[in-house]
Amino acid sequence: MEKKSQSLKNLLNLDGEGLREFCASMGEKPFRATQLERWIHRRGASDFNQMTDLAKSFRAKLAEVAKVEGPSILRDKTAADGTRKWLMDVGNGNAVETVFIPEENRGTLCVSTQAGCAMNCLFCSTGKQGFNRNLTTAEIIGQLWHAEHTLRKDRGISDENERVISNVVLMGMGEPLQNLDAVVPALKLMLDDHAYGLSRRRVTVSTSGLVRQIDKLAELCPVALAVSLHAPNNELRDKIMPINRKHPIETLMDACQRYLKVAPRDFITFEYIMIGGVNDTLAHAKELIRLVEEVPCKFNLIPFNPFPDSGLKRSQEGDVKAFAKRLNDAGIVCTVRKVRGDDIDAACGQLAGEIQDRTKLSQKRLDRMHIIKEITS
Ligand code: SAH
Ligand code: SF4
Repeated sequence: MEKKSQSLKNLLNLDGEGLREFCASMGEKPFRATQLERWIHRRGASDFNQMTDLAKSFRAKLAEVAKVEGPSILRDKTAADGTRKWLMDVGNGNAVETVFIPEENRGTLCVSTQAGCAMNCLFCSTGKQGFNRNLTTAEIIGQLWHAEHTLRKDRGISDENERVISNVVLMGMGEPLQNLDAVVPALKLMLDDHAYGLSRRRVTVSTSGLVRQIDKLAELCPVALAVSLHAPNNELRDKIMPINRKHPIETLMDACQRYLKVAPRDFITFEYIMIGGVNDTLAHAKELIRLVEEVPCKFNLIPFNPFPDSGLKRSQEGDVKAFAKRLNDAGIVCTVRKVRGDDIDAACGQLAGEIQDRTKLSQKRLDRMHIIKEITS
């Protein structure tokens, strides 16, 4: 039985086009693919028997070769403020997380794209775990599939046109642009009217700044873009984000300008973690204003979220306020991210890190510790 399940094709791996190809390979017409897509993504069905408008013979054939298999949930926790976090098993003792953040007029889901991450940013607990593997399309869209339909069920919503999740951000574990092959079909499903029907402006990809892949995303599936900037110059950014040594800040700004030509929004969101004594002075703010002079943008200041052995601390509240004011005074729209779901560690790679920290005291980790000492002393 187990063996048979493994050989079945998981239809969560297919976007609309993939489903049409799959149906064609079974001698079925394209509208069958649309029906399938709607059953799976709009209604959350996983059992072919439920799909009553498909011919019985087609359903029987489907059951022979395919399955709809969502993520396997290890933990499901809800914080006092309503933030909900699922921990999903991705095999080999690894887990990734998905976080739902309810707000008054919207519900945002934060989705992971890789188990671990290879970018090794100094301030990130996911980076500290190292890279494990890319998630599949099924594992990426499966997070939205599971979250949306679980939330609907919990709220007693039966109307398939009513959505709980109005926004998706690819800001969970991993670097989405290092996994474009799986991420793009998942994005297409998020946008597809037969699946989740979200507008391009409500789906955001966050990247540490992979310049060539930013161009690729523009070409394949332009959605809103957030760029993790975190430093106003190459000297500091090189230290806290190793990717900057490959793609320096000026080339990243150029990539942002190119992206803006096709972006669904007329600005780039820059994320900027506020790390005490590292990147949070008014001199940094001034340098930042000069850096982004030519780039239409908004800033999201994120108070650093400490994790065990990070060696870094969150900026003082007063420093964050002063930094934000400096940007605002220069005409840059700037928000400070609220800390949400603190009681369930719903921020940035924390719960999964707690399940498994594979870090050995490797050269990489020694390097990190050395840099932390250097930039905080
Ligand atoms: N890899 C992508 C997306 C995932 S990280 C990226 O780096 O953009 C999502 C956001 O969380 C990024 O802006 C990242 O810099 C931020 N982040 C990582 N570790 C953090 C921490 N300890 N505290 C606050 N924000 C953090
Ligand atoms: Fe990876 Fe993003 Fe963390 Fe950097 S901040 S290590 S790119 S997940």
